[in-house]
Amino acid sequence: NYRARSAFKLLELDQKYNFIKPGSVFIDCGAAPGGWSQVISRKLLDIPTEETNTNLNSNLIIAVDLLPIEPIPGVNVLQGDFTNISTQQKIKELLKGRDADVVVSDMAPNFSGQHFIDHVKSMELCESSLNFAEQVLRSGGTFLCKFLMGESDYEFRNNLKTKFDRVRHEKPQAVHRKSTEGYFMCLGYKK
Ligand code: SAM
Repeated sequence: NYRARSAFKLLELDQKYNFIKPGSVFIDCGAAPGGWSQVISRKLLDIPTEETNTNLNSNLIIAVDLLPIEPIPGVNVLQGDFTNISTQQKIKELLKGRDADVVVSDMAPNFSGQHFIDHVKSMELCESSLNFAEQVLRSGGTFLCKFLMGESDYEFRNNLKTKFDRVRHEKPQAVHRKSTEGYFMCLGYKK
């Protein structure tokens, strides 16, 4: 009962890396219709009542997309183009000076059908989310982004490697076998 099948990709990655933790500040870029935000919301809000409420209070989830997103418990929704400075400014306002623990991006361009063009656009979205992540992530923070494999993904990966302790190319089982989409899972931001 998730809005998008993509939820299973995030669940799989979290099972492997356990980066969705109560008390975290999460930014979900390209979040519509909201599958990933549902996964994050359920994991952050569903903690036993015996646990301290401080965790509950410190959760902050911000979901951004060009498209509207139906409300999700505990999720702050922003509609806008993530690559616009004004949208990024709105995210920063919601952060109220806090650093983010995790920035995830499942953003994908509208597919043109021409692989090279789609790849280039996808890498631009990756650059944009990384650039923003560098401004808001705490030291040791996590960054996850989707990309369409192609001739310039290694450059982006090399760039990531200079900024994070660990960078892994992941292709969750839930991704169609023939799809050229992959994810960069980046742990330990070196602020
Ligand atoms: N993770 C989502 C989920 O689980 O429901 C699915 C995301 S879908 C694969 C990709 C999304 O990226 C689309 O909703 C699209 O509107 C969004 N997107 C693409 N470019 C964007 C941009 N520049 N700013 C914000 N969202 C963008």
